[in-house]
Amino acid sequence: MNGSRYLTEKRLAIQAEARRFAMEEVLPLADELDPQRADIPRSFLDRVGEQGYFGITVPRDVGGMGLGVFEYCLISEELARAWMSVASIIARAQGMGAQIGDEERRRELLARSARGQWIGAAALSEPNAGSDLANVHCRAELDGDEWVVTGDKRWCGNALAADFINLLARVRDPEPGEPRSAGLATFVIVKDRGEFPAGLTGEPIDKVGYFGMTTWNLRFDGLRVPDGHRLGNTRPVGVTANQGAEQSAFRATQAGLNVARVHTAARAVGLARGALEDSLAYAQERVQFERPIATFQAIRFKLADMATKIEAARALYYQVAQAMDDGESVEREAAMAKLFASEMAVDVTGEAMQVHGGNGYTTERRVERYWRDARLTTIFEGTSEIQRRTISDRLLGRAK
Ligand SMILES: Cc1cc2nc3c(=O)[nH]c(=O)nc-3n(C[C@H](O)[C@H](O)[C@H](O)COP(=O)(O)OP(=O)(O)OC[C@H]3O[C@@H](n4cnc5c(N)ncnc54)[C@H](O)[C@@H]3O)c2cc1C
Repeated sequence: MNGSRYLTEKRLAIQAEARRFAMEEVLPLADELDPQRADIPRSFLDRVGEQGYFGITVPRDVGGMGLGVFEYCLISEELARAWMSVASIIARAQGMGAQIGDEERRRELLARSARGQWIGAAALSEPNAGSDLANVHCRAELDGDEWVVTGDKRWCGNALAADFINLLARVRDPEPGEPRSAGLATFVIVKDRGEFPAGLTGEPIDKVGYFGMTTWNLRFDGLRVPDGHRLGNTRPVGVTANQGAEQSAFRATQAGLNVARVHTAARAVGLARGALEDSLAYAQERVQFERPIATFQAIRFKLADMATKIEAARALYYQVAQAMDDGESVEREAAMAKLFASEMAVDVTGEAMQVHGGNGYTTERRVERYWRDARLTTIFEGTSEIQRRTISDRLLGRAK
C-alpha cells in the first residue's frame, strides 16, 4: 500500500528522496560506525544539511524546507530505517535554540539551523528527574545581567559536539500551592562545537546502543548565561516577568515533547521496517530442511504479523502528525502513537531476530542494531508507563 490518503504526490517525492538517501548513504555509514560506537562525523552532518533535513520545519524564507510535522516524521521514518541516530540528530536543529537575540539574530540562527550549522543538545533530564521532570534541581541564579548555573544533568545527547545546549533549570522554588513545575526556566547556552564552556564538564555514558551520538552526564559549576538567553521572556499581559517565563518554559517543554513523541513513533516504525525488510530477504535465502525457511508457515505468519503491526503503527503516527499540522490538540494521541509504535518496534525487532536464528544474535547482521535501538524507544522521550499515564489521565481524569 503506497498511497494512504495522507500521501500526496509531493509527499511521495519527499519520501522517495529520503529513502534513496537513507539506503545509499546512511545505511553504509551505520554499518561502518555503529560497530565502532563512533559518532556521526561532521562531514556527514554536512551531507544531511545539504539534503535540507535539519530544516524540514524551518520556514522557507530563511532557507528551510517550510514543511510540517508530517513531512518531518515521513523523512525520519526513512532515516531510521537505515540508522535511528541520523533520524535523531535532525531533531537537534529544526529551529531549536534560535529564539535568542533580536529579529535579525533569530533569522540568522534559523538559517544556520536549517543548514545544519546550529545543532544543539537538550539538557532536561537529571539523575533524579527523568519521568518526573518537574523535579529538576539544577539551579540558575541571577547575578547582575547573567544567570549562574549549578547542578547535574544526565543523558544529554550530543552535548560536546553541539553549538548550543537547551537547559531546563530551576530559577526559584515553588510557592506553597503552586505546581512543582513552577520556577522552571529554559536557557540557551551558546558554546563552541567540540568543547565545554567554562563552568561545565561532562563525562560520556556507556550505552547499550544508539551509537552515532555520544550521551553525556553534565556538571554545571558556575557556568554563566546572559539574561537574554533565557527563553520565554515575552509574557502575556497581566503576568509578571518571572511567572510568564516560567509557565511558558514548562509548557513549551511539554509541547516540544508532543512533537518528539510522534517523531519517536516514526523512528520506531523505521527501525521495525528495517528489521522486517531484512527478515523478508533472509527468510527467502536461508535454507533448512532443503527449502527456504520462508516456506514454513511459522515464519510466514511471523512476517505477516510483523508487517501488520508496522502498518498499524504507521497509520496512527500519520494521523497524529497530520492532526498536529492541522492545529489540533493531540497530547493524548501523540502519547498513543509513541506508546504503540515503540512497543511494536521492540516486538517486531525481537521477532526479526528470531527469524534470523543464530545469525540474528551476532554483530554480522543489522538486525541486532535495530533490536538494540528499538529497545530505547520505549524509554526515552517519556517511557511507555508515562505515555499510559498521560492516556489514562485523559480517559479518567488525573489519579490522586
Ligand atoms: C540513550 C538515552 C538518551 C537520552 N537522551 C536524552 C537527552 O538528550 N536529553 C534529556 O534531557 N534526556 C534524555 N534521555 C532521558 C530520558 O528521557 C529518560 O531516561 C526517560 O524520561 C526516563 O527517565 P529515567 O531514566 O530517569 O527513568 P525513571 O523516571 O527513573 O523510571 C524508571 C521506571 O519507573 C517508571 N515510572 C516512573 N514514574 C512512573 C509513574 N509515575 N508511573 C508509572 N511508572 C513510572 C518508568 O516508566 C520506568 O519504567 C535519554 C535517555 C536515554 C536512555
